[in-house]
Amino acid sequence: IREYNTFADVIRRHAQERPDAPALTFKGDTHSFAQLHDATSRTANMLASRGVGPGDRVALISRNRPEMFELIYACNKLGAVLAPLNWRLSQREIAQILSDCMASVVIVDEIGEGLLPDESSEVPVLRFGPDFDEARAAASGDDPGHSGGPDETALILYTSGTTGLPKGVMLTNRGMSYTRELAKAWGMDSESVNLVAMPLFHIGGCGYGSSTMLAGGHTVLMAEVDVLEILALIPRHRVTHTFLVPAVVQSMLNAPEVADADLQSLQLLMYGAAPMGDVLLRRAMDAFGCKFMHAYGMTETSGTVVILEPESHDPDGPRSGLLKSCGRALPWVELRVVDPATGKDAMTGDVGEIWLRTPMVMKGYWQNATATREAITAEGWFRTGDAAYLDEEGHVFLFDRFKDMIISGGENIYPAEIENVLNGHPAVAEVGVIGVAHEKWGETPLAVVVRKAGQAADAGALIAYTRKNLATYKCPSRIVFVESLPRNASGKLLKHVMRDTYGATS
Ligand code: ATP
Ligand code: MG
Repeated sequence: IREYNTFADVIRRHAQERPDAPALTFKGDTHSFAQLHDATSRTANMLASRGVGPGDRVALISRNRPEMFELIYACNKLGAVLAPLNWRLSQREIAQILSDCMASVVIVDEIGEGLLPDESSEVPVLRFGPDFDEARAAASGDDPGHSGGPDETALILYTSGTTGLPKGVMLTNRGMSYTRELAKAWGMDSESVNLVAMPLFHIGGCGYGSSTMLAGGHTVLMAEVDVLEILALIPRHRVTHTFLVPAVVQSMLNAPEVADADLQSLQLLMYGAAPMGDVLLRRAMDAFGCKFMHAYGMTETSGTVVILEPESHDPDGPRSGLLKSCGRALPWVELRVVDPATGKDAMTGDVGEIWLRTPMVMKGYWQNATATREAITAEGWFRTGDAAYLDEEGHVFLFDRFKDMIISGGENIYPAEIENVLNGHPAVAEVGVIGVAHEKWGETPLAVVVRKAGQAADAGALIAYTRKNLATYKCPSRIVFVESLPRNASGKLLKHVMRDTYGATS
């Protein structure tokens, strides 16, 4: 596997080898690799003229737009570090992260502008728009040509903040250059057309979103997730690949328009980032009729480290049990499941914590050596905090995060398992399960459910349904019906918010 000195080397090469091939389309506008290379060099020189140099952070608060890809490579061509922030955070959270990353400049769109701290800060602000375009056009198109080496920080991406405050993750050129290998594993090549709907400020958008570009294919970018627009863009651009998180797959399945959508060009739908469950997966496979691939990964590992290939997605075959697995570690990834009590490898079939060792692992958490030491062992293993077991063939069966595990009467219960079952009930549109205090059992599962429109199933019916499908101790004792569930930008359920809101209702 060829590791690149800089992440941007790949774009440099495509610009030489296939300058006129389409690289990036946004709102009907297409740019070739040569244009992308040129725009990224100009952006780099524009930033350099504002004093941005090697090692400096460039913060970005914006919805998806083509300039974001340009900035990733532009910063890389300078040795600067782009830190894209989640525009769905509050002004207070943005202020915290901005002061954490100590950027030399902040680049914003209209939404990002509204999120900037009120008190005037020292950090210069650049706004997308005509002035930005003019300054970029006026800058030199010569490649600044920085070549920092594989260990240099290429990007700081913040984690999704599912379990607490987002953590800044320093990803290296080496780690990010594996995205090109991932593209091969995902069956992408220079003919692929990739629809990028997920936000580029997370690894799911940024890492997955870069893959087709690194493979020399065509990337179609969306400003933000919109189910009907996804359905329209797939036939319009003959999209072959896309990545969608389970919450988006679910809202597509709930949309009546999906039945008439023309999805013929779609070869592969990748899903992951949050528990999907085989119940939802089976419904999606029925509705979309393309190949499916499961991906498991995280910000700290530059994205995907485990995949379940399309061949293992066989709902009616003898190995249909694999639909519950997220697959096997990629060839360049070492994976262990470690018994938290002993620190030794768990036996096949026994649940433990997933540990990973691969060149894709981050350099560390930005400005947080203590958290880095806790997360990465002296031997280089990254401790994920995710619970799973392995089968004899090395398939990973993911449960949930240890932090979300419910201990009831001494039994461990993983909420994702209960959510998976309830997702199979015809009245359930969405569900999240948390542990709440219980006098006798310590904790007990509580299911928070959004019903499908026009469905009247009551708590008794849903609890009876779980009794048919789960061991009694795992069945929720109570069901709360709500209008919507708290989710972050990756569509992940914010269990800590749910615990705060519903924790005292039992
Ligand atoms: P934070 O670390 O701030 O709490 P986060 O862990 O959600 O947020 P990410 O790095 O974006 O931030 O997400 C990685 C996590 O997402 C994994 O550790 C795992 O818990 C979950 N995850 C990733 N892929 C899958 C998958 N295929 N199925 C279930 N869960 C997944
Ligand atoms: Mg995490």
